[in-house]
Amino acid sequence: MDPITIIGGGIAGLALAAGLDPQRFDVTLHEQRPGVPPVETSLAMWPEAQAALALLGILPDVRAASTGFGGMALRDSAGNAWGSPEVRGVLGVSRADLLMILDAAVPHAVQRVAGRVDDVPASGPLAAGLLVGADGVHSVVRRTFWGKRAAAKLTPYLALRGVLAEPIAPDAGGEYWGRGQLFGITPASGGRTYWYASFRSDLGPAGIDAAEALQRTRERFAGSAPAIGRVLAKAAPESTLAQRIWTVPTLGSFVRPGAVLIGDAAHGMTPNLGRGACEAIVDAANLAELLNAQPMGEALRAYNRQRVVRTQLLRVASSAMTGLALTEHAQPLRDRLLGLAAR
Ligand SMILES: Cc1cc2nc3c(=O)[nH]c(=O)nc-3n(C[C@H](O)[C@H](O)[C@H](O)COP(=O)(O)OP(=O)(O)OC[C@H]3O[C@@H](n4cnc5c(N)ncnc54)[C@H](O)[C@@H]3O)c2cc1C
Repeated sequence: MDPITIIGGGIAGLALAAGLDPQRFDVTLHEQRPGVPPVETSLAMWPEAQAALALLGILPDVRAASTGFGGMALRDSAGNAWGSPEVRGVLGVSRADLLMILDAAVPHAVQRVAGRVDDVPASGPLAAGLLVGADGVHSVVRRTFWGKRAAAKLTPYLALRGVLAEPIAPDAGGEYWGRGQLFGITPASGGRTYWYASFRSDLGPAGIDAAEALQRTRERFAGSAPAIGRVLAKAAPESTLAQRIWTVPTLGSFVRPGAVLIGDAAHGMTPNLGRGACEAIVDAANLAELLNAQPMGEALRAYNRQRVVRTQLLRVASSAMTGLALTEHAQPLRDRLLGLAAR
C-alpha cells in the first residue's frame, strides 16, 4: 500500500480521498475545519465538474440537492438587461451540501486527522509517500515545496455572499454590473435565493466584520436596481460571508518530487467565472483516476499535462472577467458596447 497524505479536506481533498482506491493506497486526510462552514453559500457546478462527480459516483446525490440556473441575465446597475445568455446544464448547489455528499463518499479506510498542519517537514511521517496540497489558496504545501515566490496574492476586491430563505423575485435574477461593483442574484436550492456582491475595499484582509461589510455594501449599492436594495434589506450579518479575494500566481507545474497540488492550492483564481470549485473537483477526480491506474511517477506527469494549461487559462480568463465586470474608468464604454451587442 502506497501512503498518500492529503492536507485539506475541503472540496478538492474530499473528492480526491473519495476517488482513490482504498485497496491500493493508505490515505490520511488532515482537515482543520470542525464540520461544515457556518454561513451557507452556493456554488455553480458546470458540466465538466458534473462529469467528474459522475466519475466519483455521486452525481445523482449532487443533482438531487441542486437547482438549475436557466437563463442568467446580464444587467446594468439600474437592472436593465443587456441579454440573457443561456447557462444550460449548470447546477447551483449549496457548498455545505456538496461537502457533506463528498464526505459521505470517502471510504472508511481513509484515516482522518482533525486539526491544522502548520509545517510540512521534508522528511518524517507526513512526507512519506505522496503529499497532496489540497489546502486552498494559502497552501502550506505550496509554501514548502514551491517557495515564497508562490505565495498567495491579495486582490483589492471584497466579496460578500449569502442565502435568503425566500424564492428569487420574478425578473430579479442575474448579474448587475455597475461602476467598479457587481451584484448577483440567482436561485438557490430549496427554492431560496443566493446573492453575492463584489467591489474594491480596504476592509481586511483577515477578520472582516460581516455587519460592517454589509453596511458598506448597502451604501455602495444605494441607488442601484430596486431588486438589489430588496435583497440587501433582508440580508443579515450572521448569514453573510465577507472575505477579500486572494489568487495564486502562475505555476508552471503542479508537481514537485514527493508533492502535488490540487484545487485552489494549485490555481486559486478570482471567482468571476464560477470555476474554482469545479476545477478542484476535476483535478481530484482526474488525479485519482490516474493514480489508481498507473505507476505514481507516470500518473503525476499525466496529471500535470492534463491540468496545468487548462486551469492556468481559466485563471487568466477569470481575471479578465473580473477586470471587465469591475472596471471603473472604462465603465461607460463597456456599457455602451454591451448595449450595442445586445441590440
Ligand atoms: C465569492 C466566491 C464565489 C465562488 N463561487 C464559485 C462558484 O460558483 N463555482 C465554483 O466552482 N467555484 C466558486 N468559487 C471558488 C471556490 O470556492 C474554490 O475554488 C473552492 O472552494 C476550492 O476548493 P479547495 O478544496 O481547493 O480549497 P478550499 O475550499 O479552500 O479548501 C481547503 C481546505 O483545506 C483546509 N486547510 C487549509 N489549510 C490547512 C492546514 N494547514 N491544515 C489542515 N487543513 C487545512 C481548509 O480548512 C479547507 O477545508 C467561489 C469563490 C469565492 C471566493
